[in-house]
Amino acid sequence: MIPALMPTYARTDIAFERGEGAWLFTADGDRYLDFAAGIAVNALGHCHPRLVEALTGQGNALWHCSNLYRIPGQESVAARLVENTFADSVFFNNSGAEAIECGLKMARRYHDLNGAPERYRVIAMEGAFHGRTLATIAAGGQAKHLDGFDPVVQGFDHVPFGNLNELRAAVTRETGAILVEPVQGESGIHPASVEYLQGLRQVADEFGLLLFFDEIQCGMGRTGKLFSHQWAGISPDIMAVAKGIGGGFPIGAVLAVEKAAAALTAGTHGSTLGGNPLAMAVAGAVLDVMLADGFLDGVDAIARTLRHRLEDLAAAHPKVLGEVRGAGLMIGLECAVENRALLDRLRANRLLAAPGGGNVVRLLPPLVIDESHVDEALAILEKSCAQLEEGGH
Ligand SMILES: *Cc1c(COP(=O)(O)O)cnc(C)c1O
Repeated sequence: MIPALMPTYARTDIAFERGEGAWLFTADGDRYLDFAAGIAVNALGHCHPRLVEALTGQGNALWHCSNLYRIPGQESVAARLVENTFADSVFFNNSGAEAIECGLKMARRYHDLNGAPERYRVIAMEGAFHGRTLATIAAGGQAKHLDGFDPVVQGFDHVPFGNLNELRAAVTRETGAILVEPVQGESGIHPASVEYLQGLRQVADEFGLLLFFDEIQCGMGRTGKLFSHQWAGISPDIMAVAKGIGGGFPIGAVLAVEKAAAALTAGTHGSTLGGNPLAMAVAGAVLDVMLADGFLDGVDAIARTLRHRLEDLAAAHPKVLGEVRGAGLMIGLECAVENRALLDRLRANRLLAAPGGGNVVRLLPPLVIDESHVDEALAILEKSCAQLEEGGH
């Protein structure tokens, strides 16, 4: 008989009762070091005091009033995102897939308003992940996500990630946008090179395409800058943000330059819950912390420390680990054993990580970790590698 809870996940049989910083606790009091952070969502760790204060404060004032009225929190969070990014304007919704959907609608309508409705196609990347709605599984193009859900939403062409020649060759008179994760997440942590990101900007400009970045996983401080494309000194026209911007509260956002944003006029798009006062109080607190002097530099510094130590670990355990790659605190450990075997071992030793495509273990720790967390994680990784080499427990 089907469980009351629809079985769409292959869940691990653990439930957590409480979280504090980088730690999660079960009801039995077992303590786990959380280097998955709810898949890059708990960017400031669990129950960050500033976020708890913002949430409970707003929770006692006003949760929701709908977008029929002005929402001052939305105006101020949007203004701060505009001030700190390429964007001229921001739309709020509740999840990553919704943010991608909004950006896709924006791209179509932009070209439609410019008298080129035929330019509805989007070039996306092989290995991409953009969400689980009908349009976003089509954008991702993964057979495992599309299977059984025909007909596929049309309008997406896929080219190999990292290859500018194939990208150029795929542009037709119907192409309107390029959709890219600057660091591919679900496919196993593949960072785009600076040259590739600059090349994307060039191709977009040359053909009049909108450049649309999916920074849902790699954005919000994860790579040591507020958004990962900032390392390349270029900017997109549209960007989808979610995960870390709410630190665990469901929030999505679409940031855009004026010409793209202007395509979504009153009545063309909406979200009932998007950007409600509760969500915006939390997003405002997340920005307070991330934009404070030195925070992002601290992320960059601890990420470099972690990365070096992981490279030494991998070199010492070639029977378990392969390449270490990533950007900032978005790290992929390629495994020489089955990634699930390493994940199980890590969990048994009280370290949580996430799986990734290509037999990878993803480390996505909260951005608030310090050297003590790195020491603890490395000790567990070391122990787990040794246990796997012994071929058992
Ligand atoms: C998680 C993720 C999404 C989908 O976000 P949801 O909130 O699950 O809809 C889209 N793109 C990337 C890169 C992601 O990591």
